[in-house]
Amino acid sequence: MPLKGVGVAVLGGDARQVIVAKELHRQGVSVKTFGLFSKELNGIEQCRSLELLFQNVQALVLPMPGINEEGEVYTVFSKSPIMLSEAVMCLAQKGLIIYVGVAKPRLKGLSRNIGAKIVELAEIDELAILNSIPTAEGALKIAIEKTPFTIHGSPVFVLGFGRTGLTLARVVSSLGAKTTVAARNEQQLARAYEMGLATIHINDLPDYVSQAKIIFNTIPALVLTKNVLREVSRNCLIVDLASAPGGTDFNIAKKMGIEAILAPGLPGKAAPQTAGFMVARVVSRLLKEEVTNWSLQYGGACSES
Ligand code: NAP
Repeated sequence: MPLKGVGVAVLGGDARQVIVAKELHRQGVSVKTFGLFSKELNGIEQCRSLELLFQNVQALVLPMPGINEEGEVYTVFSKSPIMLSEAVMCLAQKGLIIYVGVAKPRLKGLSRNIGAKIVELAEIDELAILNSIPTAEGALKIAIEKTPFTIHGSPVFVLGFGRTGLTLARVVSSLGAKTTVAARNEQQLARAYEMGLATIHINDLPDYVSQAKIIFNTIPALVLTKNVLREVSRNCLIVDLASAPGGTDFNIAKKMGIEAILAPGLPGKAAPQTAGFMVARVVSRLLKEEVTNWSLQYGGACSES
């Protein structure tokens, strides 16, 4: 077991973190948790304090949303807030690796002060592609629940054709939606065309968007502006998946009577178990790489057994 004996703290979070803790434990990692409550954690050390959590760990797995600017850890299980302060972080051993979805400035500052290394999981292609699966299913669920018509046969626009847009376009088109992809990148448009989808350049959106009955946005920039929304049918549903604040002018959409939903965190909502396995898979692979590096540098500390 390459990870046997490596100490990892799993802090806060939701059902995904429970799976991460379980999976790492199964792989021989010495897992400790704090702020996670589940029967599934039987056999895993559940710490009574952050001080105990930080003892003898080489890595810290934070929930995908990480901590806010006040230092509060995202958690759904703990009734009292879990605060990550400088004093607490100082208890960590030198060279701590912190795995987190997105690191906000506060976390970056805290890590810098103790010389920890941050790995932003949302930046990793492998996880972004894997996450696009539950994201697409979650987006589809919203669209199905919010519309009185079938996806099949409906004109659906997917804005952006990166990791999430591609999966989503494939999913809706395989359900029989008349799918149009709007993107700025010619290579992505070529790929969408190859997949048998209709394509338009994002700049031409105002000319075509009136056809859409559902718009899924994955572009993290304001693309559904007042000018574009003016052309959108009042019966169209917008599901905006892009990270906050999304790519829609929500105030204008509301004024125009267009239903627009910002839908963050879909993997954790739509399929926490699968999403947890995906995080665990990537963290475990990255940890194995670190362990190999440590072995090379220190000739066997935390080495493979
Ligand atoms: P991605 O692979 O980088 O794809 C983004 C797409 O948007 C690409 O087609 C990109 O084109 C395009 N784009 C970016 N900026 C643009 C601009 N200013 N104008 C026009 N097009 C632009 O990202 P992703 O992994 O698919 O994620 C997309 C968004 O969804 C992110 O904000 C991510 O945080 C969010 N997300 C949300 C959820 C959820 O649960 N709601 C889940 C996963 C991801 P280029 O390649 O030309 O830049």
